[in-house]
Amino acid sequence: MHVSPDLEHAVGNTPLIKLRAASEATGCDIYGKAEFMNPGQSVKDRAALFIIRDAIARGDLKPGGTIVEGTAGNTGIGLALVGASMGFKTVIVIPETQSDEKKQMLRLAGAELVEVPAAPYSNPNNYIRYSERLAKTLARSSNEGVIWANQFDNTANRQAHIETTAPEVWEQTGGKLDGFVCAIGTGGTLAGMGMALQPRGVKVALADPGGSGMTKIYTGEDPGGNSITEGIGQGRVTKNLEGFTPDAVYRIPDEEALPIVFDLLADEGLCLGGSSGVNVGGAMRMAREMGPGHTIVTILCDYGTRYQSKLFNPAFLREKGLPVPDFLDRAAADIP
Ligand code: PMP
Repeated sequence: MHVSPDLEHAVGNTPLIKLRAASEATGCDIYGKAEFMNPGQSVKDRAALFIIRDAIARGDLKPGGTIVEGTAGNTGIGLALVGASMGFKTVIVIPETQSDEKKQMLRLAGAELVEVPAAPYSNPNNYIRYSERLAKTLARSSNEGVIWANQFDNTANRQAHIETTAPEVWEQTGGKLDGFVCAIGTGGTLAGMGMALQPRGVKVALADPGGSGMTKIYTGEDPGGNSITEGIGQGRVTKNLEGFTPDAVYRIPDEEALPIVFDLLADEGLCLGGSSGVNVGGAMRMAREMGPGHTIVTILCDYGTRYQSKLFNPAFLREKGLPVPDFLDRAAADIP
């Protein structure tokens, strides 16, 4: 058994779980990298750890220093938990539209939360741009150092996947790996995996939700749409994505992704967020394209309880005109 001296060393080394229904339906071996088993219950713990380590190595962060970030939630949770374990304060700027569960978790993890109205990147009050300004302001009165984690354009993010996630997956599959698929939030996961795995002959593809601009950027086509998934979809080539091009792009609408999330919970005991559904949907598309007998890996990004009030709430789904599985209605009826 692995014994970790601290939380830092408990990040990563997650299991690869075979996805039964997706594998049976396609004749391929489709595996999910169980990133929801990280201490902060998401793939973003890896990026948080690498960003913090990089800042320490540069001398930008000293004990008692502060980490500032604009985040949809998971990166903030990772930064706050890893930060707490290493003796740093965390200030998180988050769009109001993100789930209450994530906001509560951030507060619980000791982060100071600044909620701002959702606004596009072009707006100076967009949560990312707001967080950059806030970091500069706080830095003026700090002796211990203040960093802006800048997950979108800080390539320590993708480096986490080049150095940890990709070698783990390669080892776990014994090098018998034909394809890798995932969505883009910052692009750290997809580009990091792509940079490490494409040179080894692995086909690396993007699974893109409705409303994301990445399909247009990579294929020239804009299928439009929208999505209730959180943490994914992007409109620009971030620094993390620079130098990487996906081998294929699969557009996965919510109508395809959400039933996968519900079935994985009901039939395989995997309680996951919406982005995992987009990822598994993408892996199944790739499997059908490649034909039976191939091995494909995707990312199970975060734990589903983070979305109980939205993705797993029948009233919310009906309001959005999305189908509600029977088991969710039954579970909701049991809640007093
Ligand atoms: N899924 C979820 C739930 C996320 O929070 C994120 C990160 N925003 C991603 C997927 C995408 O990961 P990345 O930032 O590495 O592209």
